[in-house]
Amino acid sequence: MDSKTDAQRMEKIVSLCKRRGFIFQSSEIYGGLNGCWDYGPLGVELKRNLKNYWWRVMVYEREDVVGMDGSILMNRAVWKASGHEDTFTDPMVDCLVTKKRFRADQIEPQSGTVLHFNGAVDEKLLREAFDYSLGYLEDSKRASVRQHYERCKHLAELANHPDPDVKHLGERLLAQEAQPFQSDEPFSVLLKKGKPPESARKVAIEFYQLRGLKNPQLIGEHTEKVENTTRYNPQNGSLLTEPRSFNLMFKTYVGATEDDSSVTYLRPETAQSIFVQFKNVLEVSRKKLPFGIAQIGKAFRNEINPRNFTFRSREFEQMELEYFCRAEEGMKLLDYWLEERLKFYENIGISRDRLHVKTVPDEERAFYSKGTYDIEFDFPFGRQELEGVAYRTDYDLLQHQKASGKSLEYFDEETKQRFVPHVVEPSAGVDRTVLALICEAYSEDEAPDEKGKMETRLVLRFHPRMAPIKCGIFPLLKNNNQLVAKAKEIVGLLRAHMNVFYDESGAIGRRYRRQDEIGTPFGVTVDFETLGEKDAALRDTVTLRERDSMKQKRVAIKDLAGILSARIS
Ligand code: ATP
Repeated sequence: MDSKTDAQRMEKIVSLCKRRGFIFQSSEIYGGLNGCWDYGPLGVELKRNLKNYWWRVMVYEREDVVGMDGSILMNRAVWKASGHEDTFTDPMVDCLVTKKRFRADQIEPQSGTVLHFNGAVDEKLLREAFDYSLGYLEDSKRASVRQHYERCKHLAELANHPDPDVKHLGERLLAQEAQPFQSDEPFSVLLKKGKPPESARKVAIEFYQLRGLKNPQLIGEHTEKVENTTRYNPQNGSLLTEPRSFNLMFKTYVGATEDDSSVTYLRPETAQSIFVQFKNVLEVSRKKLPFGIAQIGKAFRNEINPRNFTFRSREFEQMELEYFCRAEEGMKLLDYWLEERLKFYENIGISRDRLHVKTVPDEERAFYSKGTYDIEFDFPFGRQELEGVAYRTDYDLLQHQKASGKSLEYFDEETKQRFVPHVVEPSAGVDRTVLALICEAYSEDEAPDEKGKMETRLVLRFHPRMAPIKCGIFPLLKNNNQLVAKAKEIVGLLRAHMNVFYDESGAIGRRYRRQDEIGTPFGVTVDFETLGEKDAALRDTVTLRERDSMKQKRVAIKDLAGILSARIS
């Protein structure tokens, strides 16, 4: 697919999410809050199905993993010891013209011609001042220019004053006064391939206008060829500021006083509460190495540039496992967990060809990690990380042991050794996976309408395990009491096993389409055969329709719960 159709696809996905109640902008009626999202009635079900399945696979189905649920606010000492307070930063750059902020490491390298400028002058204003000094200026313009000119003249006298203090002040004020005439600040613009130099000059003029010149004339233009530079705004070519560090943690105060002693942060990852509770959990669970502690919960990062719908949010949820082991098992378990996690994604309906494993190179890895894989997914906006699987060595536990003065050692009863365990961490994002599920499921195909004419059908092909609603239940006619009563009886029967939806309004085809659009995998229709009106043998049977194949078959009501449950679990 080309980038235009990918962008269109993403637009359709975002609009479907809003229209059908998967995801809304947070605080929408007040204009929203950048990087924050609310999940609507269907989104919350999808998210819950994902979290429940992760918990089932990572905790219930394993002997060696237990769960926990830590608080979001923790003692500030945790973030000092973990290194987050000093180093959880992103390099940030701003566009000098639009002020748009970017993460420096996310700017694609660009090549091309740079137009450099030494500065700019407002020649019109200069000319007017000059004309005034010669007495030429027309009357209507005299007043303001005269004022300015007289002030400059006076300041020029001060700048030549014998007292060095007065001279210095005079020079400073004169420089300020001269600002409307001239800027000596150099600036440059990267010329996009195929664009005329005039487009770069326009950007430079905007820059000098922001510096206070009304009618800037560019001076000292010269060009330079550059390769793979990341110093320019990819959108308008403007020079960016030098990178500055930006801490991603949200700071807050605990208690009534807002001073340094009450500072803490909203957690930027759930993992740290697992590390600091390691000893408690170990004691109560009586697990032997290797064993893991799992947690699902909110995390907060003041991302410089939230974007791509929910992909990069400021508030999001993580599903993290800290799997503690002996040092010698670390690398092997890293590969083991990578495979387990890939299987997980396939089991929730994400196809293997859209998943990619990136071995994070040494220079991009945290200094304490001996190996990290990123599991990436082909989103319509590009290949991006879904989950990180990292071998974090014994770094975290050692840091907390050192800072707290409390032992976080494990005692091996067989060898009688005491040591701080190492850890392998598969860390997945709930919101990113939900978005991947929606992107993967979104499709358009052709289906006949009421009159048999083919029309475009929008369908979310969720794996039945993930689908927010498992089965739609429809009486053929809403004004037939017997059909309605039977359909409601089936709702009661299935509700104990799964999330179902009753719908009696509109033509049956239209009801199917509404469910296709939200990814409901099954539809049950109660018709006159169900009532035994046509054939007594068909009494208490219904048609069961499958979303993907649109095939229908007759099944007995008493078998429905069993058939559907088997397909869903
Ligand atoms: P990125 O490089 O994309 O910023 P990261 O490498 O910083 O991500 P980790 O610290 O490894 O991410 O966090 C683990 C997981 O948490 C990520 O794989 C992702 O699924 C999720 N995650 C991290 N940051 C965000 C965010 N801003 N919005 C949504 N999910 C996130």
